[in-house]
Amino acid sequence: IAESFGRSSSFTRNEVAAEVSAKSAQGKRTVATRAQGPVVAELAQRAEYIWSDGAEGTKGIKFNELRAKTKVIPKAITTNNPKDFPQWSFDGSSTGQAEGHFSDCILNPVYVTNDPIRGGNNVLVLCEVLTPQGEPHSTNTRRKIADLLTPEVLAEETLFGFEQEYTMLSKTGQIYGWPANGFPEPQGPFYCGVGQESVYGRPLAEAHMDACIKAGLRISGINAEVMPGQWEFQIGPAGPLEVGDHVQIARWLLNRLGEDYGITITLEPKPIQGDWNGTGAHTNYSTKSMREEGGIKAIHEAIEKLSKKHREHIMVYGIGNEKRLTGKHETANIDTFRSGVSDRGASIRIPLGVSIEGKGYLEDRRPAANVDPYVVAGKLIETTLAK
Ligand code: ADP
Ligand code: MN
Ligand code: MN
Ligand code: MN
Ligand code: MN
Repeated sequence: IAESFGRSSSFTRNEVAAEVSAKSAQGKRTVATRAQGPVVAELAQRAEYIWSDGAEGTKGIKFNELRAKTKVIPKAITTNNPKDFPQWSFDGSSTGQAEGHFSDCILNPVYVTNDPIRGGNNVLVLCEVLTPQGEPHSTNTRRKIADLLTPEVLAEETLFGFEQEYTMLSKTGQIYGWPANGFPEPQGPFYCGVGQESVYGRPLAEAHMDACIKAGLRISGINAEVMPGQWEFQIGPAGPLEVGDHVQIARWLLNRLGEDYGITITLEPKPIQGDWNGTGAHTNYSTKSMREEGGIKAIHEAIEKLSKKHREHIMVYGIGNEKRLTGKHETANIDTFRSGVSDRGASIRIPLGVSIEGKGYLEDRRPAANVDPYVVAGKLIETTLAK
C-alpha cells in the first residue's frame, strides 16, 4: 500500500491508513462506506468470527491458536449458511499471518452455529483465512483437506472421532487444583474419578459440555483424565471437515469459558515432567469398508499403510509430542510403530469391541492434544485412501 502512494515503506500503519481513507474520501478508491442507521437491539446480532492464527508455538500450538472478534450485524442473518455471512478482514501482522506493510487477511465464513454463551440470535462464525488476493492462506489447513476429497475418497464416507484432552491451569500457571507446594498423590484415583479430593475443575468441564451441546456440536462425551486437572471431551463421529470445524469451535468455547472460571486451558503435550500422563488427541478413524461386514481386513490394510508412513505422520502430529510419546504413560515410543488389539501402549489400537465384531474403526493414539484436527484427518485420508 505504501508503495502505491509513492511513499517509503517505513511509514507506520496509521499513516498508511490515513492515506487510504484520504484517497477514498477523494473517490479514488472504492471502499464500502454506506452510512448505517442506529443499531436496533431487538434486530441486532453479534457474530463471533473465529479463526486459526499463524503464531507458531505461542501457547505450545502450531497454527491452531484461535482468535476471534465480534461483528455486530444490524439486522440478524437468520440462516446458518456461511455464504450468507459477509467476509471480513483482520490485521495479519498481529497474528503471524502477514508482514506489517501489507497486513490485511480475509476471513471467509465456513461454518455457522448458535452462540451458546451469548444466546438469542447470536452466532459463532468459524472462518478460513484467505490472502488479500483471495487465495487460501498458507495456514489454511482446512482447504488442503478439501483438495483430498476426490469422488473415490468421498465414496468411502470417512468418519473421525477426536478425543481432545486438555489440562487446566490456575492463574499462576500451576496445574489447576494442585497444592501450592508439592504434588497430589500419585496417579491412580483420578481417571473418571469422583470426589473433591480426586477431581479438579468439573464446573468448567460441565459448562463446556453444555455449551457444545447448545451449539449443536457433535460432542459425544467428557471424562476426567489420568492426571488430576486434566480432562477430555470427544467430538464425533463426523466427516473430515465437520470434525475439524466442531473441534475448533469446541476449543474456542473451552478457552472462552475458562475466562469466566479463572482457568487457563493448555494443550501442551506434556504439561509437567515426571510420572504424569501427557495430553493427547487420539483420533478414531473409519472408512465404509472398515464398517462393513468383515471390515477388519480393511482395518489391517490401513494399519499396514500407516506403518510405512510413521515418520511422516509424527512430523505433523503436534509440536512437543516427543516429550509425550516416550513409551510410558499409555503411549508408544515416538520412534516405534506398533499396533495391537486393546493395547494402550500401541501407536494404533484396535478397540476390543471392533476386534470381536470383526469391523468398525481404528484408534490412532499418536496425535498430541495441540494437533491441527484438519491435518490429522487429511493425513489419515492421504495415507490410507489416496492413490
Ligand atoms: P477411549 O476408549 O479411547 O477413551 P472414547 O470413548 O473416548 O474412547 O472415544 C471414542 C471415539 O470414537 C468417540 O469420539 C466416538 O465418536 C468415536 N467413534 C466411534 N465409532 C467410530 C467410527 N466408526 N469411526 C470413527 N470414530 C468412531
Ligand atoms: Mn483496529
Ligand atoms: Mn477417551
Ligand atoms: Mn483420554
Ligand atoms: Mn482413546
